Amino acid sequence: MAKKILIVGGGLAGTIIANGLCRQLGKELRANEVTITVIGNNEQHMYQPGLLYVPFGRIREKDLFRDQRSVLDRRVIFHVDPATKIDISTKSVATESGTTHEYDYLVLATGSRLRPDTVPGMAEGAHWFYDLDGARKMREALEGFDGGKIVVNVNAPHKCPVAPLEITFMLRDYLQERGLGDKTEITYTYPIGRLHALEPVANWTQPEFDKAGIKYETFFNTKSIDVEKKVISSEEESDIEYDLLVTIPPHHGSQVITDSDLGAGGWVPTERETLLHEGTTDVFVCGDTTNIPISKAGSTAHFEADTIIDNLSSLVTEGRMARKYDGKVFCFVETGMNQGTYVWFNYTTPPNPGAPSQMVHWFKLAYNRLYWLSARGLL
Ligand SMILES: Cc1cc2nc3c(=O)[nH]c(=O)nc-3n(C[C@H](O)[C@H](O)[C@H](O)COP(=O)(O)OP(=O)(O)OC[C@H]3O[C@@H](n4cnc5c(N)ncnc54)[C@H](O)[C@@H]3O)c2cc1C
Repeated sequence: MAKKILIVGGGLAGTIIANGLCRQLGKELRANEVTITVIGNNEQHMYQPGLLYVPFGRIREKDLFRDQRSVLDRRVIFHVDPATKIDISTKSVATESGTTHEYDYLVLATGSRLRPDTVPGMAEGAHWFYDLDGARKMREALEGFDGGKIVVNVNAPHKCPVAPLEITFMLRDYLQERGLGDKTEITYTYPIGRLHALEPVANWTQPEFDKAGIKYETFFNTKSIDVEKKVISSEEESDIEYDLLVTIPPHHGSQVITDSDLGAGGWVPTERETLLHEGTTDVFVCGDTTNIPISKAGSTAHFEADTIIDNLSSLVTEGRMARKYDGKVFCFVETGMNQGTYVWFNYTTPPNPGAPSQMVHWFKLAYNRLYWLSARGLL
């Protein structure tokens, strides 16, 4: 009997794992000893980091998308048929069409989703760039903006921990380019007592914000937004007036994870080195959906995926795990329209952001195009 590897979620993590397994298990696939199946909920694959540029009109929307089938190795069996129930006791996954998929090894890669509806007034009163519809609306709002108070409001948990910093720096440059720099005040709010979850990044950000004239307020846990009065309020009883509100909405994991009792809030309890769902030996978890307290980022998902590819192919061919995930994350950080820096860190080494440069900004722009090679496993 062929060993069945089933991957739920055809985003960044699911795609990289499926393609990587095809590369490593070529002989077994040819001999029909293994099958690799991806269950997704979309024909299209979106490059989410590209959304950062949409509000400023700096990317063509069509460059954010590829046909998911074309990104996957042709040996991958791909179904667009959302998973509705995952049952790890019977080793099976039910889908919307009524199909039941059995597996020998399961990979959960269902990502995260935005929940602006969990904060009163957020869905109606705030703009965000974390999905295409939101990013388009934010672009329109910016086009009609002629000065005033902008609040960049960060809520947790959320993916890409550096994107709120990037949008703030880019907003400053965008407004200056439009001659609105002197007429605009930007205030950044963050839920804990510093400007970023990672302390070294917070320490780096504060002087950069001071230099750029960006105001900030920490310990700001969003309670509600008064859309009529244009006021955002926090649990800590602070009120800030705005003319334009940009928010990073709180995130939850996928509904199917909660519906299947696999983790509160949709976050799956995951062993941080093996990336196995805690208490199992055949369910791997990758990307945003893990509950590991590290950045929910594409690069995290990518480095985790590389570990899972090695371990799964080793389990199939030799019956043992190959290696451990060390917590590696690498992120480019736009610090304006024409400059950037980067951070890398792992479980033992903290991040150490360097001085911004135009070169790193160009690297980020280049990676935005190279992503498609990376997702196919060619880079
Ligand atoms: C604006 C923005 C900027 C970003 N910038 C960066 C950056 O600069 N660097 C970086 O490293 N990361 C960045 N990220 C984060 C990065 O995109 C995510 O962390 C990454 O996509 C996570 O990969 P994933 O596979 O876990 O989730 P996703 O890529 O979101 O994939 C999850 C997939 O599962 C599918 N799914 C969910 N439920 C089901 C179901 N029931 N059945 C079937 N399929 C399902 C979803 O539709 C989706 O296709 C950014 C994100 C945003 C929004």
